[in-house]
Amino acid sequence: MIKSAIVLVRTLGTSKPSLILSQTRCASQALPQLSATKYNVKRKEFGVVQSEDVNYFKSILSEEQVLTEESDVLPFNIDWIKNCRGQSKVVLKPKSTQQVSQILAYCNERRLAVCPQGGNTGLVGGSVPVFDEIVVSLGSMNKIISLDETSGALVCEAGCILETLDNYVRDRNLIMPLDLGAKGSCHIGGNVSTNAGGLRLLRYGNLHGSVMGLEAVKADGTIVDCLRTLKKDNTGYHLKHLFIGSEGTLGLVTKVAVHCPVLPKAQTLGFFGVKDFESVLSLYRSAKASLGEILSAFEMADNYSIQSTSKNLNLPNPIADFPFYVLVETHGSDETHDSEKLNRFLEREMGSGLILDGTVASEPAKIQTIWNLRESIAGSGLLEGYVYKYDVSIPVANYYDLVPKLRERMKSVTTKVYGYGHIGDGNIHINITVPEYSKQATDLLEPYIFEEVAKLKGSISAEHGIGFRKPQFVHYSKDPAALDLMRDLKRLMDPNGILNPYKVLPDP
Ligand code: FAD
Repeated sequence: MIKSAIVLVRTLGTSKPSLILSQTRCASQALPQLSATKYNVKRKEFGVVQSEDVNYFKSILSEEQVLTEESDVLPFNIDWIKNCRGQSKVVLKPKSTQQVSQILAYCNERRLAVCPQGGNTGLVGGSVPVFDEIVVSLGSMNKIISLDETSGALVCEAGCILETLDNYVRDRNLIMPLDLGAKGSCHIGGNVSTNAGGLRLLRYGNLHGSVMGLEAVKADGTIVDCLRTLKKDNTGYHLKHLFIGSEGTLGLVTKVAVHCPVLPKAQTLGFFGVKDFESVLSLYRSAKASLGEILSAFEMADNYSIQSTSKNLNLPNPIADFPFYVLVETHGSDETHDSEKLNRFLEREMGSGLILDGTVASEPAKIQTIWNLRESIAGSGLLEGYVYKYDVSIPVANYYDLVPKLRERMKSVTTKVYGYGHIGDGNIHINITVPEYSKQATDLLEPYIFEEVAKLKGSISAEHGIGFRKPQFVHYSKDPAALDLMRDLKRLMDPNGILNPYKVLPDP
C-alpha cells in the first residue's frame, strides 16, 4: 500500500528546499483505482511481455536495471497525484542512449508498448502506464556532459534532476532557465518532453527557446542526433521542436543541450496583499512599467491558496490576511539599485492604495521562505483529500473569471476551489480539493471547464500537457486539421504506436 506524504526536504548540496512527494508503505491507505477501470479504457492490441522478453532485456542491461518484483515496480505505476495506476510488470533503467535504442528496437519488433518515465512528477497521468506498458525510466542516465561557461551551453543526459543541474551551474555563475516546484524530483528530459514552464518563464522564455539541441531515440530504435549547442541553426526543419512537449509519444529524449542565463547578482522579492483581482492586474501593469528589464516573475495566489499552504504545511505568511496576494521578483545586476526600484514601487503603490500591505526581501533565506509559500500550493491540497488540477491559459483580462464560476458550480460538493499562477504568462492553476475522487465531482468539472476555456479563447493546458487525462478534450484547443497533422506525425515516427499509447492523441 502506498501512503503519500508531502515533505519539504533539502536535497544534498542544495541551498533551496523543494517540495517532493515521498512514497512510503502504509497498510491503512488504499491504492488508487486502476486507470483502465476508472476511465473505462480498452487495451490496444500490443504484445504481452513474456519471460523470454525479460531474459532479452537482462542480456542487454544488467540484472539491477530490470525490475520485475511487484513491490519494486509499483511506484512506477502510480502518478504523483495518486490518480492514475497502471499495471506494468517490468521497469527498465537504461544507462546509455545505445541501451535505449536496443530496448526500443526490440519492443517495436515485438509490438510491446512502452511508457517513458522521468521524475514522475507529471500531473496528467502521462508518465505512468495504463495497462502493462513497459516503463523505461531515464533516472540512471544522469551525467552532466559539458558546460561552456562562456556561451552558457549545458549538455547533459535526460535523467538529470533539474535542481542538481541548477546547483551545478549556479556554482559556475549561471542558472537553469526554468524553475518549478517539482525541481527536486523532475528530470530535464521530462521538462523537455512536457515543455515545462514554471516560475520565471516571463523572463527567460519557454524551452522551445532555451533548448539548443537534443538527442532522441525513435520508436524503431533510430538515434536522432540534433544535439547542437548553437543559438542559430537554420538547416532545414527544426526537428528538436517535435520532441519538446510531445510527452514521450514521438520518441525518447536521451540528451539535452540547454542555454543557461547568467546568475543574477541581485535577487529581490516583494510579497504584497491586495483587495481584489482588478488590483492584481493594475499592479502587473505598474510592475512592468516600473521594473522593466529586471522583472523576473509576477505571480498571484488567492486567499485560499495561501491559507491552505500555511495551515497544511505550517509555513508562515509574512503579511496579514488578504483576498489576493502578489509575488514580484527581480533578477538584476545591482542589489542596491534593484531593491531601491522595488521599494519605490512598493511605496508608490501603497500610496495609491493598490498594495494594502507588503514586504520586500533581498536576503536568500527570506526570499526562499516566501517562495516556499507559493511553490507549495501545488501539493498542499493533497493533504486535505483529492485535488482536481487544471492548468489553463486565459487572456489576462479574464484570468480569474473561472474561479468564482466554479465555486458556485461546485458548492454542493466542496468550497475548496482556488486559483494561483503565473499572471505574466496568462497561466492560472485552478485546484478543486474534494474529500475523495468522485464521478459526481468529475462530471461537474469536465467538460465544463474546458468549454469555458474555449469560449475565452484560452488553452486547456498551459503547462502540464495532455497526457492520459485530457486527450478527449484536446479538440477544445486544437482544430481538426491540426489534430490530423498530429496523427500523421505520430504514424510517421511511431507506426506501431508503441510509444506512450492512450496519451495525448484522442482515438479517431
Ligand atoms: P514525468 O512526470 O516522468 O513525465 C512527464 C511526461 O513526459 C510523460 O508523458 C512521460 O512519458 C514523458 N517523459 C518523461 N521523460 C521523458 C524522456 N526522457 N523522453 C520522452 N518522454 C519523457 N509543470 C510546469 O510546467 N510548471 C510548473 O510550474 C510545475 N510545477 C509543478 C509543481 C509540482 C509540485 C509538481 C508535482 C509538478 C509541477 N509541474 C509543473 C508538472 C511537472 O513537474 C512537469 O511536467 C515536469 O516537467 C515533469 O518532469 P518529470 O521528469 O517528472 O516527467
